[in-house]
Amino acid sequence: MSLTEEQSAEIAALRAATSPTRRATVAALEAMLYEARPVLDHGFVRVIDYMGDDAAVVQAARVSYGRGTRKVSEDAGLIRYLMRHRHSTPFEMCEIKYHVKLPIFVARQWIRHRTANVNEISARYSILDREFYIPAPEHLAAQSAVNRQGRGAVLAGDEATEVLAVLRDDAMRTYDHYAEMLNEAPDGTAIDPARQGLARELARMNLTLNTYTQWYWKTDLHNLLNFLSLRADAHAQHEIRVYAEAMLESLRAWVPLTCAAFEEYRHGAVTLSASMVAVLRRMLAGEAVDQPGSGLSKREWQEMMVAVGRQAA
Ligand SMILES: Cc1cc2nc3c(=O)[nH]c(=O)nc-3n(C[C@H](O)[C@H](O)[C@H](O)COP(=O)(O)OP(=O)(O)OC[C@H]3O[C@@H](n4cnc5c(N)ncnc54)[C@H](O)[C@@H]3O)c2cc1C
Repeated sequence: MSLTEEQSAEIAALRAATSPTRRATVAALEAMLYEARPVLDHGFVRVIDYMGDDAAVVQAARVSYGRGTRKVSEDAGLIRYLMRHRHSTPFEMCEIKYHVKLPIFVARQWIRHRTANVNEISARYSILDREFYIPAPEHLAAQSAVNRQGRGAVLAGDEATEVLAVLRDDAMRTYDHYAEMLNEAPDGTAIDPARQGLARELARMNLTLNTYTQWYWKTDLHNLLNFLSLRADAHAQHEIRVYAEAMLESLRAWVPLTCAAFEEYRHGAVTLSASMVAVLRRMLAGEAVDQPGSGLSKREWQEMMVAVGRQAA
C-alpha cells in the first residue's frame, strides 16, 4: 500500500479531530475510522463513516420511542431471530461508507453489487497512479481442471517466473505509453512542448486491468451482508475475497451481535436442497445411500458430501 505523505497527514488530521454528537457511536469502529487497512500489493480499505449500531437494528425491529434495547442477551436473541428468519429490513437502518483502492478487474466484479452508492475516481479528470496488482507467487495458480471459474495448483519454476515477468512488463509498457500519449509531467507541464498530448479520457483505454482504481462505496448493513456472504465466501476469487475479509473485520468491530448472527446463520451455514435433505434423512435412518441411488447429480452429491464434512472441498 502506498500512501503519499500528504495523504497520510490528511488521515492523521481526521483521526485527531472529534466532534460531540447525540448519535450512537461504536468505540471499536471509531478506533479504526479513516485508517487504511492494506489489501493486496497496493490496495486498501478504510472506513470513512457509519450510521447506527446493533442497537439501531433492535430499535427498528421494536419500532421503539427510545433506544429499544433491553439486556444484551435479549438483543442478541432478537438479532439472531431476525437473521435466521430473513427479517432483513431492520438491518437496512444502519449504513457504512468505505474508501477502497482496488485493481480494475476486481472493481468489475464488485460493481455488480448494485445496491450500493458508488463514486469512482475519474480517469477523464485525473491521471491514474503507476500501480499494478502483481500476484504474490503463492497466488499465481493454474486453471482448475474441475471448476471453470476456479484455480488449481500454484504455478512453479520457470512458468511462474515467466508469467510474473509478462504481467509486470505488459503493465509497465502500457503505462509508459499512457504517459507518453498524455504528454504530461507530474507537475502538469508538457513533456514535449511540441506535442498537444491525447485527452485523459482516451489515453486510459490502453491500460491493463490490473491497474488500480479507487472509489467511495456506501451501503446499508443488509446489503453489506449480502456482499460479504458472496465475496468473503471460499468460492469467491482470492483478489476480491481479501477485501471482503478486511471488511468483515470492520463489521465485527461495528455490529458484533449482527456479525456473530451472520457468521452463524449465513457465512458459516450451508444450504441443502430438498433432495439433499431427503438423502440425509435416509442415511440417518441407517440406509447405505450412494450417489447413483441418491437421485442427486455427481456435482450435487459432491457438494453435499463437502457440506456435511464427508469429503474435502
Ligand atoms: C462466484 C460468483 C460468480 C459470478 N459469476 C458471474 C458471471 O460469470 N457473470 C456475471 O455477469 N456475473 C457473475 N457474478 C455476479 C452475480 O451474478 C451478481 O450480479 C453479483 O453477485 C451481485 O449479486 P446481487 O445481484 O445479489 O447483488 P445486488 O446487485 O447488490 O442486489 C441485491 C439484491 O437486490 C435485488 N436487485 C438489485 N438490482 C436488481 C434489479 N435490477 N432487478 C431485480 N432485482 C434487483 C436482487 O434481489 C438482488 O439479489 C458472479 C458472482 C459470484 C459471487
